Amino acid sequence: MYDKNNIFAKILRGELSCRKVYEDKFVFSFYDINPKAKIHALVIPRGEYKDLVSFITKASIEEIIGFFNGLNKVIEKLGISDDGFRCIINNGHNGSQEVPHLHFHILGGEKFGRIV
Ligand code: AMP
Repeated sequence: MYDKNNIFAKILRGELSCRKVYEDKFVFSFYDINPKAKIHALVIPRGEYKDLVSFITKASIEEIIGFFNGLNKVIEKLGISDDGFRCIINNGHNGSQEVPHLHFHILGGEKFGRIV
């Protein structure tokens, strides 16, 4: 069940401020408040999806394509397409997801050590 009072839902509704990176019909993106890299943005779908599993199983094809198009716009806007970046999704309890609205972490501006 989606919690309409989660922090990112409030940002989407304009009830909380953020440092916006990009927005369109399907996607909203803003800088992480506690950055873990020189560049650290979050990219979220406008739809009410609590996690990646929910998005994959419930979103329409239009939303899924729209989301990835928007994600690419964010990467272009951040200027990290060529140098590269890391994309992280924490999903659910074992993934240590804190905010229950699907978000892609986009980290860039520096080289990261390998995790996997
Ligand atoms: P996760 O652990 O994957 O759920 O990540 C949640 C992320 O949201 C963390 O990196 C937080 O720093 C970030 N965060 C929490 N509140 C805000 C906020 N108001 N504005 C921007 N980022 C936030």
